[in-house]
Formats: sequence, structure tokens, C-alpha cells
Amino acid sequence: MRIAVGGFMHETNTFVPEPTPWAMFNQEGAWPGFTRGPEVLTRFRPFNIAIAGFMAVAEKAGHQMLPLSWSFAQPSGPVEDAVFERAVSYLLADIADAAPDAVFLELHGAMTTETIEDAEGELLARVRRLVGPDVPVVASLDLHANVTQKMVDSASFMSAYRTYPHIDWLQTGQRVAEWFDRVVAWGPQPARAFRQMPFLIPIASGCSMIEPMKGLYALLGEIEAETGVHLSLCPGFPSADIFDMGATVIGYGASQDQVDAAVGRLAQAVVRSEAAFLEHLAKPQDEAVTLAFQRAGLASKPVIIADTQDNPGAGGSSITTGFLKAMIGRGAQNTLMALYHEPDIALAAQAAGKGATIEVTFAASGKGPGEVPLTTKAEVVAVSDGRFIGTGPMVGGQPINMGPSAWLRIGGIDLVVGSVRQQPHCIAVCTHLGIDINGYDVIVLKSSVHFRGDWQPYADSVVVGASPGAALDDTGVIPFEHLRPNVRRRPMSNQ
Ligand SMILES: [Zn+2]
Repeated sequence: MRIAVGGFMHETNTFVPEPTPWAMFNQEGAWPGFTRGPEVLTRFRPFNIAIAGFMAVAEKAGHQMLPLSWSFAQPSGPVEDAVFERAVSYLLADIADAAPDAVFLELHGAMTTETIEDAEGELLARVRRLVGPDVPVVASLDLHANVTQKMVDSASFMSAYRTYPHIDWLQTGQRVAEWFDRVVAWGPQPARAFRQMPFLIPIASGCSMIEPMKGLYALLGEIEAETGVHLSLCPGFPSADIFDMGATVIGYGASQDQVDAAVGRLAQAVVRSEAAFLEHLAKPQDEAVTLAFQRAGLASKPVIIADTQDNPGAGGSSITTGFLKAMIGRGAQNTLMALYHEPDIALAAQAAGKGATIEVTFAASGKGPGEVPLTTKAEVVAVSDGRFIGTGPMVGGQPINMGPSAWLRIGGIDLVVGSVRQQPHCIAVCTHLGIDINGYDVIVLKSSVHFRGDWQPYADSVVVGASPGAALDDTGVIPFEHLRPNVRRRPMSNQ
């Protein structure tokens, strides 16, 4: 078959006031920038992304790929309406020109624009209107998708990642391609079922390396193997104040009865796990620091603090200073902190050069939560252009661009700043500067979970810590105004 392939991805933190402009979709960072036309067929091959996996497997199966466009921006505030319309118009125009037999789209599932809460639902509905009811429209989704009925009604088939950290991003595209022939055989509108869970799941509790998600994804695989029903379990993206935010289970198969039963089994298991989702709720900042140093005193490897509320992967600015202030305050030694999005500091360090001591102000422009300016002297230990090859299971082998970067030393604290906002997905964000991560007692990372893929083997343990930031961990305190009623804001709560 002739399959049109493209993508448009954003995870929107609706609590971040600044809208997301086109430039952010055009920026190359840990992933490529906006790409349209024939380059789509070649540029993504080294990347752990779904479109690369889909194309490789679908081509092997004898299908022909027709390139659309693909773009991704780091999680941030609502996508500008004009940006959404621009990206969607490219996709629709290219699908119309290609007149394909089927469409594959790499989507996130938690995109919100200035005026559209369910951007993927809107995109998929427009694609469906264009191609008509008989053309299969299949899609990959991020594990953090806030899946909606409109998405389920419009697409023929969707499959979400099953790992957080997202080490199966590529495999999810492969999986869509592997199921593609079955989806076509099920007919133009396969049987499907969709369930929204009755409680919200805090973001750090969605990690698939720990319970209960680890066991739930294992169960998903078992039910799938037993029944032939394709399943996805999405814990949702909580920093989105929209009606349909939350955890969902979706399924596709040959018969409605089978699909309903399989989705029902998995949904029931999620509900039975409700109490276990509370175990990984973040500890308050100072408690997290004290606990980390207590553990480090007994450990032979570093203890990692996840600065989860300033996770850029959930829309955090990566400039909050809560943990830095706490570390300076206690005169911390043997401590590493990464990754601060401070382009001005990185440039000042480069201008001053290795060995220089400079005065720097963190969060100088800060307006958001936790962005309290902090001025201090710092020694420049090393600088780089921030270009290196990623390591570990999530971004290993990918070319990564952190922009001008620097390794700074503030007393006993080593700290890495970069110029392109992104998570410390892999240890190479530090090691490429010459840092040996093994020698530290405590390492503070601006990430919720993704770091675990590459960093955790080097660590004694992880403490999830809550310092003021834009990506609130405890869903029970997120100030939702648009969320549907009758969903428990925190697991095991009454409301
Ligand atoms: Zn995600």
C-alpha cells in the first residue's frame, strides 16, 4: 500500500502562560527540527522516534512511504493557534496531494492550543474528513497522551509507548507497522473501546520501571497475547487543565466483545492499583535533600534527586533555583546539578574561558514559580558547543544539540548549564564536558523519570523531590478549572 507518513508532536503544559511559537518546532535539540518532503524519509533514521520505526518495518513489509511533514517541540505552554493551523495545513495539503491508501501520524496526544483543548482530536478529525471513512488512519502516541473520545472516533488505530522513560519510542512505530496488516484486515473501522480511569496519576508515579506501572504493562502484554486485542495504557499528562485530562485504556480488535473484555480487564487492574500510585509522590524539597545526604553517607554510588517540578519534559523552565539555594545553604560538597537552561550564563562562561571565576545570576529573567534570582560566583571548569552523541536506552546514538554549554563550580557544587532547553536524558550531557559522574555523593537532575534510563545504573537510589516549579507533582494540588467532574484528583482521595 501507499502510506503517507508524518508527525506533529507537543506536550502542552497549560499552566505555562507563554504560548509556544513556530520557532520552537523548528529548533533542533535532542530531536530534529521541522522537516517536510523527501527528507522525512532519510533524516530520522538514527533517532529513537516512532516514524523511524514505522517506516523501517512498513517498507520491509512491501509498503511504499509517501513523506508528509514532521515536527516536535519541547513541552511548553499552549501552542499558538496559528502554529497549529500551519502544521496541520501542511499535513492536510500533502495528504491531499499524495492521495494515499493509508496514513500514519506520529502524535503525542497531549497537545493543546490557545483555543483547542484536544488538538490531536481536531487534527485526526480533519484528516478523517479529508480521506473519508475507508482509508486507514493509524497513529503512535506518547505514554503521556490525554486520550479523548474524538481521537478514538477519528483514528482507525492508535498505539502508545509502554515505557517511561520512553525507551520504546522507536518500537512503538515498529509496533504500529507490525499491526498494520491486521488493522486493515479488521476493516475500515475496527472494533475499539476507550475507558477513562476514575482517578489522576501523578507524573512520577507513571514510571514503568517501578510498581504499579511495571506490573500493569506486563499484564497488558499478557492480555494482548492471550486475546489478540491491541491495548494501550496511558497515565495521562497532568499539567493540562482540560476536560479530558487523565489516565485511559484503549483497545482495538476483530470483535467488539473481545475488545470490551480485554479493555475491561486492564482497566480493572489499574483501578485495583490505585493506592500504589501514591507511593512515589514527591517529597518536599528540604526533606528530599536531607534524605539524599543521609542515604549518600551509607552508599557507594551517588544518590539522585529528581527535581521533578522543574522538568522541561513537562513544561518546566529548567531555571528554578530552589534546590541550588538549598545546596548552597547547607554548604553541600560532592554535588552535581544538571541541566540548567541558562544561555546567558553559558555564553559568559565561554567568553571568560576555562579557569576563570565569574559572577552569575541564575533565573535572572524569572517570572514563573520557583524562578527566584540567585547571584553567586562560579568557576568555569569546562565549556563546550553542546554537540555530542547521546548515550543510554532513550537517546543512545542520536546527535544531540545542547547549544553553548558550561561546567561550573560553586563551592562543592558542580553544575551544568546549556542553551537549548531539554532534560538530562543521558549522562553524556555531563560526561561530554569531562565530568565523571561516579565521584559525587548527590546528583540533582531537572527531570521526573526520563533520566532513569541512562543514569539509574550509576546511582544508589532516586529521591523524587518537589521544589517550586511549573510541573506540579501532586495532582491533588494542581488548580484545575476545566477538568471534568467525578475524577479523583489524587489517588485514594474523596474528590
Ligand atoms: Zn511522555
